[in-house]
Amino acid sequence: MLRSSLNITPAMTGGVDWAGKCKKCSSFERFLTGMMFHIFIIDTAFENWSMDKLEALIDHELCHIQRKTGMEVINPETGKVIRREWAKKSDPDSWYLRDHDVEEFSDVIHRHGLWEHGVEKFAEAVRNADYQMTIYDAKHESEMRKAQ
Ligand SMILES: [Zn+2]
Repeated sequence: MLRSSLNITPAMTGGVDWAGKCKKCSSFERFLTGMMFHIFIIDTAFENWSMDKLEALIDHELCHIQRKTGMEVINPETGKVIRREWAKKSDPDSWYLRDHDVEEFSDVIHRHGLWEHGVEKFAEAVRNADYQMTIYDAKHESEMRKAQ
C-alpha cells in the first residue's frame, strides 16, 4: 500500500550535471519507500536559488509525472466521447514519466525557425510568460556557475 505518491529530497551535488530529477519508483522501491515517484533536487538549489527559481524547477519535475486516462465515456446517441475517466490512481501502471514538450538546439531554431509543432508551442509559451529573463539574469547565472 502506498503511503504517499511523491517524495522530494535534496540530493548532493557532487558529480551531477542536473538540477532536478524525477524518477518513477520500481516495484522494489515502492515496496521499500511506499512512494510512486521520487524527485531529487540538488542541495545547491535549496541553498542558493531564489524561491521563484526553485518553484519553477519543482514545477518542471512535477510536470514529468503523468497519469493515463482510462475509460472513455461515450454518448450512445452521438458516438462522441463525453469525458475521459482517469486511470486507477493506486495502480502503478496508470502512471508514467512524461517527456519534455520540446528537445531542440538553439542553432537549429536559429537556422530553421519554429519548424516543428512542439517547438512552435514552446515558443508561444515563452512569448506568453509573465517573466522574461534579462541579460542581467543570464550574466548572474553565468557568474554563479563559475563560482561553484
Ligand atoms: Zn525535465
